[in-house]
Amino acid sequence: MAELMRIGAGGRKKHQRILVAGGAGFLGSNLCERLIANGNSVICLDSFLTGHKANVAHLIGHPLFKLIEHDIVLPLPEFGPVSQIYNLACAASPPKYQADPLHTFKTNVIGALNLLELAELYDARILQSSTSEVYGDPEISPQPETYRGNVNTVGPRACYDEGKRAVEALFHEFHLQRGVRTRIARIFNTYGPRMSPSDGRVVSNFVVQALAGSEVTVFGDGSQTRSFCYVSDMLDGLMALMAAPDTVCDPVNLGNPAEFTVLQLARSVIKTIKSPSLISFVELPEDDPKQRKPDIRRAAHVLGWSPKVSLAEGLAETIPYFASCSQQSERTVVAGE
Ligand code: UDP
Repeated sequence: MAELMRIGAGGRKKHQRILVAGGAGFLGSNLCERLIANGNSVICLDSFLTGHKANVAHLIGHPLFKLIEHDIVLPLPEFGPVSQIYNLACAASPPKYQADPLHTFKTNVIGALNLLELAELYDARILQSSTSEVYGDPEISPQPETYRGNVNTVGPRACYDEGKRAVEALFHEFHLQRGVRTRIARIFNTYGPRMSPSDGRVVSNFVVQALAGSEVTVFGDGSQTRSFCYVSDMLDGLMALMAAPDTVCDPVNLGNPAEFTVLQLARSVIKTIKSPSLISFVELPEDDPKQRKPDIRRAAHVLGWSPKVSLAEGLAETIPYFASCSQQSERTVVAGE
């Protein structure tokens, strides 16, 4: 019923009616665009807490796109059957998810419950955007899915980390107890066009600061590491996981294992932009993980997936996007004068 049409002589490719919760966010809006380009019909739910209407403005009016403003913490509106659900709905940047920790926790747990019940109702596949944050401040590197993590349950990141961990448990039980066709992607740091310039994350901050020629703020001494995945690689991974057999219900790491210190990232952004910016060292936030690098052998094995875009190539795509955002905001300021 949720399959819209078949294409091709053999009629093998089925187009789907797909729900993307958090569809106006960074990952969500890029995903909506990709799914529609493949001929699928997309229902985009977003509360616009951290998502932006501008991210999907070019899709509004498209016959395969429907935008519904809604917070998944609340009972879901009626929109008929769907065959796939991507749950990307939650603030992902530490300053944003820490702004209202209780709401972050509710978005994770109550939001996921609502979507899981919908998946059960329509026998839809459902993919949860989990996170490398389930590993907390890891004691081993790289982090395989079998590592159980080192999370502070009462720290400033707990609302997100423990919320996401709870959702993994919910997905596991809905699969076991009710036969729901679940998938869990543990997403590592991802960047690219449509990140909000004010997101507060390291790539967006550094690029915006270097473009403006202002100080690039390295937290701590910059020796902490992250592994940065370009958005197109992440979408390939998420879609491959959704398309995988229903037996692939255990968590799968998705990320780029190329590891950089935050200081290396700062220097490479400044160099790429040829910015006059200086680096300033400011206080390291509490519970900031010291290292993060995905072990992606499971993704390679079960999905045949690995990232293709290097940090240098990804930054070359991302910097012009942030430059256009700053030009737009300058024009808005001038027009408002
Ligand atoms: N960071 C930084 N300067 C910034 C923003 C972040 O040095 O302006 C650091 C932050 O302390 C962390 C890393 O960059 O060690 C990645 O931070 P982000 O908020 O992007 O994501 P996280 O991986 O911590 O969730």
